[in-house]
Amino acid sequence: MDRRAFTKLATMAAGAAGLQGSGWGETTEGGRRLGYAAVGLGGISDIFMRACAESKSAKITALVTGHPEEKGEKYAAMYGIPKSSIYTYAEYERLAENKDVDAVYIGLPNSMHCEYTVRAAKMGKNVLCEKPMAISSAECRTMIDACNAAKVKLMIAYRVQYDPTWIQGIQLIKDGFIGELESFQGGFFNQQPKGVWRLNRKLGGGGSLLDVGIYPLNAIRHITGEEPAMYTAQVATRDHSRRFAEVEQSLEWTMKMPSGILASCGCSYGQDGPSFLTINGEKGFLQFEPGFLYDGVHLTGHAGGKTIDILGTGKAPFQFAIEADYFAQCVWENKQPESDGEEGLKDLIAIEAIYKAAGTPIA
Ligand code: NAD
Repeated sequence: MDRRAFTKLATMAAGAAGLQGSGWGETTEGGRRLGYAAVGLGGISDIFMRACAESKSAKITALVTGHPEEKGEKYAAMYGIPKSSIYTYAEYERLAENKDVDAVYIGLPNSMHCEYTVRAAKMGKNVLCEKPMAISSAECRTMIDACNAAKVKLMIAYRVQYDPTWIQGIQLIKDGFIGELESFQGGFFNQQPKGVWRLNRKLGGGGSLLDVGIYPLNAIRHITGEEPAMYTAQVATRDHSRRFAEVEQSLEWTMKMPSGILASCGCSYGQDGPSFLTINGEKGFLQFEPGFLYDGVHLTGHAGGKTIDILGTGKAPFQFAIEADYFAQCVWENKQPESDGEEGLKDLIAIEAIYKAAGTPIA
């Protein structure tokens, strides 16, 4: 599907979102929805499962959890899943026998994405994996190779790329509204309490850069179509309560694209801040703020005497429903997802370069 057709459909999705279905995948395959097994029943899987219930072409048909009797049975009752389709992690390979499972949705801590993707590929199941794709570029390559070898689809859940307001903003840029792109400023900042897996280096693979800094990074790569050529970076930890014993509290970095476009970004697990991207062109600017939240994406800007003010109307979890439906279409039509494994890999290559430029993971 070309970008224009994608934009049209996703804009239709904006209207439909929050009502019923994402509007993206109006079709089923022979009356059958794509069956997803939710792997890991934490915060993001809860949202994804709600999205599937709203979606027209996706359905949760199995659950993989460490708590089959509590979380498993609770979600099975909510979504009409038979008890026989609740699996523990040790029983993961039994998904291979479950004909109602076409794909897995991986909502596990970052360091588990690679293993559970490779194991799914070996079972012949398609994979929709949460971002960050993995905790290293080497792991990303392993995941791509495993999915290619098994001839299954691999998509990374970059929901923002499928958000209608983002698509509208990117179309404005492509149409020349702000002229030549010159620079970006972006960031995503939040607080993480002591003890969560995100602050554990082994599970998180790093700090806020992998989790939230990846949003402006991915958006800048996506909008420019370029891979960063040069980096500078600084990390700092000002909270000395040992909350950040394993990962940095805050990180600020700059990137220069091969064309000369500049970017300055920040992220943190110890600041209550915004999620935004400002895009400056020779004739004006656009800004997404909030930019990376589940709903309420707000696009403003000014160029050539014209003002832009678009408030996304879709309500959470509509971005996830679009994503679930879009991946179903990719599977049925044998199409490479726009946010495929290569896209996830490129972010990990940039993330590794940013940490290298910072010199030390904790300061
Ligand atoms: P979470 O802590 O809410 O859920 C993680 C799940 O993994 C839980 O069900 C937990 O029981 C399970 N798990 C299995 N083994 C575990 C282990 N060894 N340690 C800890 N938990 C274990 O996390 P989350 O917020 O749902 O994040 C999961 C993934 O989704 C992460 O990769 C994260 O980056 C991504 N995410 C994406 C978005 C998005 O908007 N696309 C938003 C939040 C999180």
